[in-house]
Amino acid sequence: MLMERPAILPLAQFVETHNLGLLKQLRLPRWVELALAVILLDYTLYIWHYLTHRVPLLWRFHVTHHVDLDLDTSTALRFHFGELALSVPWRAAQVIVIGISPIAYLIWQTLVFPSILFHHSNVELPISMERWLNRLIVTPRMHGIHHSIIEEETNSNWSSGLTVWDWLHGTLKLNVPQDQITIGVPAYHDPEEVRFTDVLALPFRKQRPSWTFPDDGKPVRDISDVPKTRLLP
Ligand SMILES: [Zn+2]
Repeated sequence: MLMERPAILPLAQFVETHNLGLLKQLRLPRWVELALAVILLDYTLYIWHYLTHRVPLLWRFHVTHHVDLDLDTSTALRFHFGELALSVPWRAAQVIVIGISPIAYLIWQTLVFPSILFHHSNVELPISMERWLNRLIVTPRMHGIHHSIIEEETNSNWSSGLTVWDWLHGTLKLNVPQDQITIGVPAYHDPEEVRFTDVLALPFRKQRPSWTFPDDGKPVRDISDVPKTRLLP
């Protein structure tokens, strides 16, 4: 995220100077343009995250972030350099199409980085506080569901900042208690196989079907008898 800055910041300057992109055409008051820019960057990051799961080439790299067997702030930093490199053209497109100024880009980066650290962290907030916070921003319990070894749970909660995108797309999932989640990807669930060098090489190897264990079988969950007090919604 910070490494892309030397490429993206001059591009945002070019966009500003030449009035490129959607927001620059609308000639909005400065603060409205800034707010919309930050919101639209957050929304298009949701789309990028969705694509990293759905496009096989992108998933090869993004899976390395998901194979981490415990979720903590260090997970937030474990993105494969291949994914970071592939995200630069996406970011450039965001800046040009939306019409992102340098200041909007810097404000967004200042907000999104702590947000990603926060929702990957293992801080245990009282569930009542998380329920409240979760209406607006992505929280650790909510993002923990996205790191579950169960496919349909991972295929939810793609937002990185505001929760509203998952809500609007019907991809919000809050009905799994944190203590029942196993973190990781079934195909790569052996700690011996997810050491640093293995993970670096993973995108370049033949891929296993991600959502079944190597000895076959898909993880399943029954949440029918979980008391409501332990759930986010
Ligand atoms: Zn993901």
